[in-house]
Amino acid sequence: TAVEIQQIRRKLPEWVAASVPFAEGGKVASYIPELAGAPHDALGITLINADGDLITEGSCGRRFTVQSISKLFTLILALMDIGEDRVFEKVGMEPTGDNFNSVLKLELVRPGIPFNPLINAGAITVSALIRGSDPEEKTERILQFMRALANNDHLRVDLDVYRSEADTGNLNRSIAYLLKQNKVLDGDVEEVLDVYFRHCSIAVDCADLARMGLVLACNGTDPLTGKSLIPRRYVQIAKTFMTTCGMYNASGEFAIQVGLPAKSGVSGGILSLVPGRYGIGVYGPALNNKGNSQAGVHLLEIMSRELNWSMF
Ligand code: GLU
Repeated sequence: TAVEIQQIRRKLPEWVAASVPFAEGGKVASYIPELAGAPHDALGITLINADGDLITEGSCGRRFTVQSISKLFTLILALMDIGEDRVFEKVGMEPTGDNFNSVLKLELVRPGIPFNPLINAGAITVSALIRGSDPEEKTERILQFMRALANNDHLRVDLDVYRSEADTGNLNRSIAYLLKQNKVLDGDVEEVLDVYFRHCSIAVDCADLARMGLVLACNGTDPLTGKSLIPRRYVQIAKTFMTTCGMYNASGEFAIQVGLPAKSGVSGGILSLVPGRYGIGVYGPALNNKGNSQAGVHLLEIMSRELNWSMF
């Protein structure tokens, strides 16, 4: 509502300022130099609603790579490409309680299928399901899809981040080969990993995340262009995974403290949404011990409490 927009505009500077100090206890991801160089105490947020009102506060101009947030969009694209039945032959629907890059449970369920599409094992499996004759074509299709959702033709793969991810991705490589051995992954393992590393390295800003979140908030239709971009059923699946698995193994706590669908990435981005109302993009590179933006989560907690946003 207009009243709520005014309240957000008035209070957001205060809420952001109150959240910035929380970055202090967090750690910027340091496994590659491109992420390690991110500004420790940066915090930015952009919200956009179905009327196109855009609210932005803090360090929002900065671009960062989507990292795990891309897993949402590859999941949706795979669902659109080959349908629900075939996707869920390859990945499960359950949270793990383990770290996002864990190999622990790959031997335990059925013939080793990943628990869900938002952990690395599941997302690598999903990357193999995207239509396209080679990694370039698959990556291009993922990019085109994300460009349509963000309404931004300029989205690109950050090649420096991509090269670093590919050079240092030994754990992801191990996961992928284990999946191949278990016959979960079809095709050339290195080509699948190439698609995965590339989609993790797509650069965005808070406004891009907010716009993509708005499409999910509006069940797959961009309310500002009227374009129908995702079938409603697949948005429902994506939002359910965001709620149960989107914030790594802190998804339960986030559901209690914030109560909104969200997906985070190690670069410090969070894509969230208020169903039917707002798309939200947050950036705060200092992470808590579960891998989520420390200041970003705090900011969403304040907003959800003050604006009574929890779905539950
Ligand atoms: N590229 C990162 C990895 O696969 C993404 C992890 C993340 O954002 O959680 O390790």
